[in-house]
Amino acid sequence: MSMKHVPAIVAVLASLAAPVAAHERAVVFPDTPDGEVILAADLHTHSVFSDGAVWPSIRVEEAHRDGLSVMAVTEHLEYQPHKADIPNPDRNRSYGVAIESLVKAQYRGLLVINGAEVTRDQPYGHINAVFVEDANALLTSDPRDAIEAAHAQGAFVFVNHPDWLPQQPDGVARLSGYQKQLIADGLLQGIEVANGTMDGLSEHALQIALDHNLTVLGNSDIHGLVDWTHDAGHDGRRPMTLVLAADRSEEAFKKALFDGRTVAWYHDQLMGREENVQAVVRSCLSLLPEAFDGKTSVLAVTIKNACPVNFTLQNIGEQTFQNVNDTISIDRNGETKVQVRMSKATDSVALAFDVLNTQIGYRKTLPTTLTADVPPTLSVPSR
Ligand SMILES: [Zn+2]
Ligand SMILES: [Zn+2]
Repeated sequence: MSMKHVPAIVAVLASLAAPVAAHERAVVFPDTPDGEVILAADLHTHSVFSDGAVWPSIRVEEAHRDGLSVMAVTEHLEYQPHKADIPNPDRNRSYGVAIESLVKAQYRGLLVINGAEVTRDQPYGHINAVFVEDANALLTSDPRDAIEAAHAQGAFVFVNHPDWLPQQPDGVARLSGYQKQLIADGLLQGIEVANGTMDGLSEHALQIALDHNLTVLGNSDIHGLVDWTHDAGHDGRRPMTLVLAADRSEEAFKKALFDGRTVAWYHDQLMGREENVQAVVRSCLSLLPEAFDGKTSVLAVTIKNACPVNFTLQNIGEQTFQNVNDTISIDRNGETKVQVRMSKATDSVALAFDVLNTQIGYRKTLPTTLTADVPPTLSVPSR
């Protein structure tokens, strides 16, 4: 195969360190309290080089608009319905076209990586490999050979849409014996819990991830336009994987992926391991209390949301609120003020919530406690 795109890849990787170019709909997350960066990724996309409807350059454009840090090109290896019109014996060509358009556009902060979707009937299913060097090596007759070839290239391998209705008619995600064997052999590291093409969120897949120590992923699996499929730029977003990385380098991203430091994000739902979801929630939400008024023990507290996610919180703390009931909405990048009935004036406040738009296991939401110091009350002069 031709390797003439390699110098371009190196140039693009170096630019991941640059700040993400701002676009109106670009996702921006603050760093976690522990100082990790949150990188938005979509590791499952299609173009006309398999069964998608657009040229790969459009995928790059969309990823830039959405503020993605990483996008993978993952054409079906075996399913190529447009090949009479677009003959592509080189399974790396879609990636090559994407890279050429990325370099031409000079988008900063976007890393495009090569991948492939090994596309088989059950019990093999659809399995993605990303960070592959040569997708052609994965076009094998035995699907196990394809996964081993991906592994030999240092790829990250994951199960796609395990709740896909044509393969799981009851909508319940399950691993096949073949897939369990891949995990046992160290050949499979992740699983999609959110997939945009089937518009699915799978709490069963999340539990499978926890039981088998797999990385939790949310991907678009986009075939048409992100704008039309997900109403992007208006109220909607494609599913994404939020990757909690030590820094913005490709190495840190890949390490975090293999280490399972991810949260899947779709329809305002944040799904993943408790520690990872907790880190994202703590990076998003903070308390800004006012001073006590010197007359009552009701404390005004603004709950600020620094993330592009709409939050729904259920109060599970001892205190109740004067102005709202126990279920609170906080708009993306917005804030909500609550009047907290404290029993007395204190120098700190702690509010405990179930974060209803999260899942940390099968039908299990994240409890979190937000704390802040209360500013001192200015003494009111007597008159
Ligand atoms: Zn698939
Ligand atoms: Zn796909």
